Amino acid sequence: MNREDAKKRIEELSELLEKYNYEYYVKDNPSVSDYEYDMLMQELKALEGEYPELITASSPTQRVGGSALNTFESVTHTVQMGSLQDVFFFEQVNSFTERCSEALGSPLYTVEPKIDGLSVSLEYVDGVFTRGSTRGDGFTGEDVTANLKTIRTIPLKLKEAPEFLEVRGEVYMPRESFFKLVEAQELEGQQPFKNPRNASAGSLRQKNPKITAERKLDIFIFNVQQCIGKEFTTHKESLDYLRELGFKTVPSYKLCKSYSEIEEEINSIGENRSKYSFDIDGVVVKVNDLSQREIMGATTKTPKWAVAYKFPPEEKDTRLLDIEVNVGRTGAITPVAVFEPILLAGTSVSRAVLHNQDFIDEKDIRIGDIITVRKAGDIIPEVVKSVSHSESSEKYTLPEKCPVCGAESVRDEGESVLRCPNSQCPAQLLKNLIHFASKGAMDIEGLGPANMMLLTESGLVKSPADIYTLTKEQLLTLDRFAEKSADNLLKAIENSKKAELDRLVYALGIRNIGQRGAVLLCEKFSEMSTLLNATKDEISSIEGFGEIMAESVVSALSQPQLRDLIERLEKLGLNMSYNSKSTGDNRFEGMTFVLTGTLPTMKRDEAKKLIESFGGKVSGSVSKKTSCVVAGEEAGSKLVKANELGIEVIDEAELINRTQ
Ligand code: NAD
Repeated sequence: MNREDAKKRIEELSELLEKYNYEYYVKDNPSVSDYEYDMLMQELKALEGEYPELITASSPTQRVGGSALNTFESVTHTVQMGSLQDVFFFEQVNSFTERCSEALGSPLYTVEPKIDGLSVSLEYVDGVFTRGSTRGDGFTGEDVTANLKTIRTIPLKLKEAPEFLEVRGEVYMPRESFFKLVEAQELEGQQPFKNPRNASAGSLRQKNPKITAERKLDIFIFNVQQCIGKEFTTHKESLDYLRELGFKTVPSYKLCKSYSEIEEEINSIGENRSKYSFDIDGVVVKVNDLSQREIMGATTKTPKWAVAYKFPPEEKDTRLLDIEVNVGRTGAITPVAVFEPILLAGTSVSRAVLHNQDFIDEKDIRIGDIITVRKAGDIIPEVVKSVSHSESSEKYTLPEKCPVCGAESVRDEGESVLRCPNSQCPAQLLKNLIHFASKGAMDIEGLGPANMMLLTESGLVKSPADIYTLTKEQLLTLDRFAEKSADNLLKAIENSKKAELDRLVYALGIRNIGQRGAVLLCEKFSEMSTLLNATKDEISSIEGFGEIMAESVVSALSQPQLRDLIERLEKLGLNMSYNSKSTGDNRFEGMTFVLTGTLPTMKRDEAKKLIESFGGKVSGSVSKKTSCVVAGEEAGSKLVKANELGIEVIDEAELINRTQ
């Protein structure tokens, strides 16, 4: 590549990696796999290696991690919290040991599993845990002491401790806790975390330590950062000492004296990966003697006395036996490959996602083919390609009807996913019921995810209408209910019958129709019976409604299952008419507001209604399109973003002022 092209590519890669860094470190929500990220970073490093004059101070290769959020107090690290030099091949580990031998003779190394979590520092003054912080950019992190205190394995007081001690460790989320959390997030309609690493980061940076406590985080300590009152000559000695003090140190740290011993230990850790209850993404090899580390030195970002060997994504070939169809809780109809079991990253795998019909067609994947399956350290295995067709291989097309309820499946314009449009489909039942009773919808207090799960599992509730036929006797047969709680729930259910029609329309869970869309529909049609007979043209003529929303409404309301439900709800006494809330004053028309933090007098819901009654829109995230941010106490990242983008920020009093 010539210099001009290299410069262009370096700029492209830097921009892309900065975007991925932001998603990963700040939002805890990556859009690409770690493997993809690492490969792009390797490409950038290689280009910068070839043209060192093109390296800029802001290049992603020169930075550690992400910046600290200003939601938390910032902490300046006295000892820098660097990253590690990543290597992906055994030859690179070998070159590392050769470099060390050249400088040090015959050094000893410790070889430790690399825990896939997030790095924190813990400080102890006279044995008392005084402060804990995240790594941030290596120089400045966030003070997350209160949240770290919820981790049971962090000792709050050490016996016979030195005057001052700072240790570094990796906070992680055990795999089982991760799966439970993702399940709960899906049920509650939240965006689930992509992997345990992001889940740990997201959980540790919660404003409310109670939430952190529920997330069941844990920690492994892997380094002494500073110690006043005790000296060590080797890394192993310091880890042994930390263990004696009561810290939970990395699960193993074997001493090795040669490259071949290191290779053997890396393989052994790799083979035992699945036995751990948490994720490891590689192995760290470190020079053991602390004075020898000084000789090796460091770059601005990483020490030269250690490398992190990252496990490659494992790929294996197997025979595709069948393609099954899964209907998710959002109605997404996903093909799943079922193949002869193979061992990948230490676990037996026999199923993998095939994404959608386009994916199957593009890769020409047929039942009976030999396929390649990959597990990239991330949780879900994926089919990479078809290696070969056999004579009996058969092409596959996704069914036209939902395999669970038989409704005609639909594919929205511009989307590759096929969906079951029937919001009453049993596959989507629990999620829809939780949505139906939720705060913004019918607002039935006492009918959150846990109770709803109980009611569906016991068979008492199979449809939203069944909520309205529940009796006290039935509730008392369930563990979670006693006299008072049963009475309270029945009262809340009865009350919800009077809810405004827009709440019911929103509660029906029509795709693409949020609270605002429901209000607009009701403002136009005011009676459920009129809405049921509305045409697509009538609906799309509503200001603020696009073709896609209108199509979703018509398609949902033409489902016999949904019409039956509405009829049942009407017979059960639910309100089917709408009292217009519009002020007739559309001064906020075309404006998008974002609410953040706790407002002094209004609840979020109230502020939202107020804005909407003047024709404004309320969105959950700040972007260039945001017109105004209404900020209350403890406003967090949204406020920061608004300031970054130069968007107007007002308080509750000013919002009220503008509506008078
Ligand atoms: P890293 O994951 O390469 O490794 C360094 C970290 O390992 C240290 O900070 C430390 O916290 C941790 N560690 C765990 N066990 C350890 C042990 N026994 N000894 C020493 N350290 C140990 O570096 P990083 O800077 O934390 O993260 C960069 C990586 O994050 C990338 O390589 C990539 O895989 C991932 N990433 C992914 C995306 C994405 O969009 N998918 C974006 C940014 C970063």
